[in-house]
Amino acid sequence: MNDLRTEARDVRVRAISADGRVRAVAAITSHLAEEARRRQNSAPTATAALGRTLTASVLLAASLKGDQKVTLRILGDGPMGTILADGNADGDVRGYVQNPFVDLPLNDRRKLDVAGAVGRGTIHVLRDVGLRHPYESSAPLVSGEIAEDLTYYFAHSEQVPSVVSLGVLIDRDESVLAAGGFVLQVMPGAPDDVIRTLEAQAGAMPPVTALIQRGATARDVLSTAFGALSWRALEERPIRYACACSLDRVTQVLVSLGCEELRSLYEEQGRAEVTCRFCAERYELDAGALRELMHRVCRDGAPTVVN
Ligand SMILES: [Zn+2]
Repeated sequence: MNDLRTEARDVRVRAISADGRVRAVAAITSHLAEEARRRQNSAPTATAALGRTLTASVLLAASLKGDQKVTLRILGDGPMGTILADGNADGDVRGYVQNPFVDLPLNDRRKLDVAGAVGRGTIHVLRDVGLRHPYESSAPLVSGEIAEDLTYYFAHSEQVPSVVSLGVLIDRDESVLAAGGFVLQVMPGAPDDVIRTLEAQAGAMPPVTALIQRGATARDVLSTAFGALSWRALEERPIRYACACSLDRVTQVLVSLGCEELRSLYEEQGRAEVTCRFCAERYELDAGALRELMHRVCRDGAPTVVN
């Protein structure tokens, strides 16, 4: 068996059909889904949900340029709470699930019950393309399985007929054995039968994680998904789990609390400890550092709001 966890070879490939009617992205995300699981210490159902959402954000980020970012949020009313993942053009991705310890019994099909853990709600896609306001749109969750929800989102919020497949295969020791996915999108003006053909091909494919577990690359996944349609790759890029948090950013968050909040934090706890939700990195300001920060903020004054 090909153990992908020892190789940091997660990758994203962007492609287009030879006739220009279908664009596609495929990603192998085994390593980063396992990195997320390890950092969040998540149970299998939550690992599957987070891995699928991370993979979806990798696919969405493939169309970005420069400093642009995309954030995908799954807001369900199930026990798992919010799932959030963001990605950028460089291939960095990170995410978290609000309640990573949720683990439900297998569903009727003997699969991890992601839909049951997500519940009903909405899917939100926020694209920060460097304008003053990011562009956000949303759609209702149609199944809670995430791939179907993203397909519905593309069709109804962006009017782009799409086929989306996302998968996370979990080992007996609860680590991620294989993860990845792909999206195929039909360009405007293409005849209706193009999407039907792609849907039928995707329906006849083995699960994407079965391909990846057997050693398929992102290009192999694209070949299977495109079927008889000829295509070419436009870009191949390594992807990784990466978080932009730092002690500086944590300190900025503490400064934004203002003088009074910082004073009570200092008096009640004597120190400040902040854990990043995305990467579980812990930052600590000891008594001296917190006192110094409090004095600075209280002296310089955070801007006073007068109503
Ligand atoms: Zn972080």
